[in-house]
Amino acid sequence: MTLGSRFAHELAELAVPWQAGEPPDPRLLVLDEALAGELGFDPAWLRTRDGVRLLVGAGVPRGATPVAQAYAGHQFGRYVPRLGDGRALLLGELVDADGRVRDLHLKGSGRTPFARGGDGLAAVGPMLREYVVSRAMHALGIPTTRSLAVVATGQTVRRETLLPGAVLARVASSHLRVGSFQYARGAGDVRLLRRLADHAIARHHPGAAGAERPYVALFQAVITAQASLVARWMLVAFVHGVMNTDNMTISGETIDYGPCAFMEAFDPATVYSSIDRGGRYAYGNQPLAAQWNLARLAEALLPLLHEDEEQAVAVAAESLDRFPRQYHAAWTAGMRAKLGLPDDLDPTIAAPLVDELLALMQSGRVDYTSFFRALSVAARGHAEPARRLFPDPAAIDDWLTRWRALGPDADAMDLVNPVYIPRNHLVEEALAAAADGELAPLERLLDAVTAPYRERPGLERYAAAAPPDFGAYRTFCGT
Ligand code: AMP
Ligand code: MG
Repeated sequence: MTLGSRFAHELAELAVPWQAGEPPDPRLLVLDEALAGELGFDPAWLRTRDGVRLLVGAGVPRGATPVAQAYAGHQFGRYVPRLGDGRALLLGELVDADGRVRDLHLKGSGRTPFARGGDGLAAVGPMLREYVVSRAMHALGIPTTRSLAVVATGQTVRRETLLPGAVLARVASSHLRVGSFQYARGAGDVRLLRRLADHAIARHHPGAAGAERPYVALFQAVITAQASLVARWMLVAFVHGVMNTDNMTISGETIDYGPCAFMEAFDPATVYSSIDRGGRYAYGNQPLAAQWNLARLAEALLPLLHEDEEQAVAVAAESLDRFPRQYHAAWTAGMRAKLGLPDDLDPTIAAPLVDELLALMQSGRVDYTSFFRALSVAARGHAEPARRLFPDPAAIDDWLTRWRALGPDADAMDLVNPVYIPRNHLVEEALAAAADGELAPLERLLDAVTAPYRERPGLERYAAAAPPDFGAYRTFCGT
């Protein structure tokens, strides 16, 4: 196995060669065998001592150049010129079975020169959480970084309490972020910025290379990828929780599962993150937050967009204007599919129908995932499961009658409305058991959420909303 070091060599200004820590007692907790196979690994080998040493970065192939990547970022609107991988490393690049270049990356592998006050470590719970949620997102068909494995290190991590440590091995089409471009721009070296943009084009948006203005094409490709991504989040009620510019990829993959959560009762104001006091990254604000981040990317790219600054600003603004339209088109098409309605349905019929439904769901605090799944049952003539989700079931009757008159396709709906998502109470339950050394609940949850559209007998509790005593859910980041 060879690990490429193209990023490390082509963009040395953004790469600090670094070595992972040596965990005292590494033990493999979970491994995505299918992903291992895609990457050309023998899963059985990854379970051996040498395999696990690779998964924590203690034993890397000869010739590899692990690096901590430099990036900047706006965190909750505040610019931080130097963030970077404080507890992560890019081990190198792999070519997968389909010939695509993928990053192999570690999180929790020890302090780096970017660690600032941090300990460079990660705890088992949050790394397993990223593992479960990213596997669920992938199974839902949503672009995401992937989780290859979580290895317990045998080291203790000090948070509010003492916790067992872990390293997550993560795979992505790259770890380039909006913050990578902000860092390069901040370095004041246009040639570096151009090399970074060329690298991003080659890796993610090769079509841009042949465009008349390749860097404008790159920017527009990122806009399109993010508009589609955030629409996909919204359609499954995913709340990312920390959409800082360092957590937004150039590839259009979801990255950094810190304080994320799936919303249950429908309410656009929903926030889970304990540090998001102003609700900046509330469910309903995500499209705007993405557009704000893309404006920061435009600022970073400005010298490449046009030689004349005024014209560069005009091109950036014109491109950014596409975001709301592209987002809306992606979301509207997705919502129509969730309702089982044809693509060519008159928008003057579809739009008010959707608006009215969302208003009813919000006022009834209806479980988003359960409702859309119950709706295909209603399309087949049994409205009761959908009605029951409303505190006043009669409130949805008139809507259901008008919707059914449009002839929704129930089978098509079951292919886009998941039965199983990683519900917060189930994730917490699985992580609590894992903390006691009991991995079976986590495996059962993974079993449900990695085939989210296929309803299976015996998995009813994985489709049900949190019990009322679960209370208001709070999540934490940087853990
Ligand atoms: P995040 O909120 O996880 O995206 O991280 C934001 C920044 O904080 C990144 O630069 C991380 O590398 C850094 N960071 C988070 N946790 C730690 C830690 N325990 N030790 C060192 N750096 C950290
Ligand atoms: Mg991050």
